Amino acid sequence: MNKPRILVLATGGTIAGIAGDAMAHDYRAGQIGVEQWLADADRLGMAARLTGRQIANIDSKDIGPGVWEPLHRAIMQAMDDPEVDGIVVTHGTDTAEETAFALDLTLPVAKPVVLVGAMRPADAVGSDGMRNFVNAVRVAGDGDASGRGVLLVMGDRVLAARDARKVRTRGTDDAFRGFPRGGIALVTPSALEWFGSAWRTGEGARFAFPQEWPRVPVLYACAGLGPQIVSRLADARDGEPVASGIVVAGVGEGNMPEGIEAELARRAEAGLIVVRASRVDEGIVDREPEDTANRCVAARALNPQKARILLKVLLANGVTDLAAIQAAFDNP
Ligand code: ASP
Repeated sequence: MNKPRILVLATGGTIAGIAGDAMAHDYRAGQIGVEQWLADADRLGMAARLTGRQIANIDSKDIGPGVWEPLHRAIMQAMDDPEVDGIVVTHGTDTAEETAFALDLTLPVAKPVVLVGAMRPADAVGSDGMRNFVNAVRVAGDGDASGRGVLLVMGDRVLAARDARKVRTRGTDDAFRGFPRGGIALVTPSALEWFGSAWRTGEGARFAFPQEWPRVPVLYACAGLGPQIVSRLADARDGEPVASGIVVAGVGEGNMPEGIEAELARRAEAGLIVVRASRVDEGIVDREPEDTANRCVAARALNPQKARILLKVLLANGVTDLAAIQAAFDNP
């Protein structure tokens, strides 16, 4: 059987990190270049042919549209390249769910795109990077992987971009979880088992990749927080434009102190798009009767950071009708 041809797009993160001491806690993310990484991977005798390209080599705390743009462009080229069967993106874990979701919304599903990271640097004792990488290559080379949107492989689990969440700051066990769906496949270097079939077969990109990313801050609600926070976040200041939308990381099911709710309702009337999400780890926020009067959108199963990405992409694509925005959150 022909070996699948996998393009590896490297962006840095702990998977490319080095501590210089197998026992150390501190390390630097984004130190190993893609050529060296592929040379190390090559020695494992994987059933895949790998080529690579360095898009960035940074800690993913600094990743955003400036890296997403060349990454998206490189993946689009690979989608059109008959010499590439699947794409693996190496990435820091801190913002992997955001990159995965931004790509998921803006890429066609023709070929598998798999993000992968590591919780421990490459030279740490018990490093998880190379195993996660081998698993990701296994997934990207599988014919059944396409039609499921962008995927994230961590540990021996495959998560869909819209479900993937980083839920632990340390340790390799269950650092990521899928919500509301759990994992959609289990993978090891030698086996891959999908749960259910692909659901987006043959689809093109759902949205155009934004040329400009509108400003959408996240308001983190907490006990006793006053309404002044809204103007601090939403108004133009220090060279930043006025916000086009705001995502509330609400308490419980997307709730917030009365003063903030009233101030947001006033601004929503004037055109600010307000999305209610939850600061609760596994929080579903459904529409409530007041949402119609307050002109609010319910984030449903998306956490605040993903709700922010979806709202930015929608606004950049000219979607401003509240019913259309709610429909996109109902079916992300
Ligand atoms: N700070 C690192 C990053 O996101 C953490 C990791 O990759 O696990 O780049």
